[in-house]
Amino acid sequence: MSNIIVAGAGHGGLVSAIKLAAAGHKVTVYDRQKKGEYYLDQRDSFEAGAMEYAGIEIPEHYRAKSNSLTFVPIGDDTPALTLPAKEGSETLTVERKELHEYLIGLAENAGAEIVFETEIEAPIILGSRVAGIKTNRGSFYADLIIDACGMNSPVRSNLPDFMLVEKSPAHFDVLHTYRAYFENIKDASRPETDYNLYLYNDGTEGLMWLVTDEEYTDALIARFDETSYSELAPCLHTLSLKNPQMGTRLLRGGYFVDIPVRQPLAVMVADGYAAVGDSAFMTYSLKGSGIAYSLRAGTMLAYAVLSDYIGLYTAETLWEYEKQFFKEVGFGACRIAIAKNFLPFVTAEEVDRMFATGLISSEELEAFSEGKLETVIKGKFFSTVKTKLQILGEMPELRSKLLTIVSNIGKFAAVEPSFPSKYERTDVEKWAEKYNEFFNSVRRSPSEELQTENQ
Ligand SMILES: Cc1cc2nc3c(=O)[nH]c(=O)nc-3n(C[C@H](O)[C@H](O)[C@H](O)COP(=O)(O)OP(=O)(O)OC[C@H]3O[C@@H](n4cnc5c(N)ncnc54)[C@H](O)[C@@H]3O)c2cc1C
Repeated sequence: MSNIIVAGAGHGGLVSAIKLAAAGHKVTVYDRQKKGEYYLDQRDSFEAGAMEYAGIEIPEHYRAKSNSLTFVPIGDDTPALTLPAKEGSETLTVERKELHEYLIGLAENAGAEIVFETEIEAPIILGSRVAGIKTNRGSFYADLIIDACGMNSPVRSNLPDFMLVEKSPAHFDVLHTYRAYFENIKDASRPETDYNLYLYNDGTEGLMWLVTDEEYTDALIARFDETSYSELAPCLHTLSLKNPQMGTRLLRGGYFVDIPVRQPLAVMVADGYAAVGDSAFMTYSLKGSGIAYSLRAGTMLAYAVLSDYIGLYTAETLWEYEKQFFKEVGFGACRIAIAKNFLPFVTAEEVDRMFATGLISSEELEAFSEGKLETVIKGKFFSTVKTKLQILGEMPELRSKLLTIVSNIGKFAAVEPSFPSKYERTDVEKWAEKYNEFFNSVRRSPSEELQTENQ
């Protein structure tokens, strides 16, 4: 039996805690929140398959009617694009607090101890190993630290450089997000679709959505730059003009929070350490699948830990977890991250023209947002390539931006095979260098943004 600490009660960490405690390990989860409190007052959707993958029973009321996303462009005459309904994949929608309490309850039932109101400050490093965590209640030691502290994890960001784990996200890796629920004025007129993503104003510098539900209208505005309420007020105003059903009375939420939108960590394990969920940047950038991929990754991590019968939990044994994650999820997430880098470059007018000219169809947009870029690049895209290139010929700047994405995805195909099948220090070092250099090269920098603005 090993002594395992889960640092932060993130989704992936809780799934690992459930499985490892059930297998007889001593598991302690530390979290800064009070029992019964949760820092996000919101409802979110994720793929049902992830709960099945984790072997967690799905409460019936989580099952939701599938909502197809509609992209609404800037021009009033430009048709909106609704993504096709997905067959064979079920969506769950749940109050985040409820999901958190459900997972915590399962972890406790499996034998894990949950310690609330504990601020984790840093890892404890002994030699080449992560040996524990420093908290405001003292230091705690363990055979393995599972880092489920989220995007700003103080464990990950204070690891020594020789562990090769990237410490912090870069500028365009994070969406600064405002989320608020306003009343739904039921007798007001409303758009034809209920789940709308607006590519408006400077929408492509980030994005905004309005989801209309029975009880409320759910507004989300996200920016790559730090933002403030006064900067967002015009966007809220635009949303309310487009959606007369959106009232001004705030029902819940109304906070700023950050979402990572980037490729996963190149290296997410070290001796005595594994990062899972947002701590390892496991989000599908354009899809918001952070919950689903955390649940899957937490399961993969638990199985890798259980396969280490000696209980050493070195980078070598934990690499099996990272390998499986990249195979099942990570490489797909990388292709979306490359496509996401297109967003800060493209203008709202260009998106509008892509829609208006039929340059991109709803199926292609779906493939794009799912990371199935091969479909866009090799499939229908090229069967209609003549027409598409003609359209692009009239938009040379957009053409060059799109060709850059296609070329970057091609370049990534050369990075992928350098993922080491076994943890050999020099191979992992080379992989991390190649992977990180690649993403640095495709990322737009804030200085480029300034140059563009000054032109
Ligand atoms: C506005 C918004 C909308 C989103 N919508 C969706 C969606 O629709 N679908 C989807 O799948 N995902 C969505 N996401 C993303 C999703 O929230 C995350 O990807 C997902 O929660 C996985 O993160 P996590 O569980 O690893 O970490 P987190 O959710 O960040 O949890 C980290 C945990 O660690 C604790 N913690 C952090 N730091 C410390 C510390 N120093 N000491 C002690 N405890 C600490 C926190 O209290 C928390 O319990 C959304 C995120 C936001 C912000």
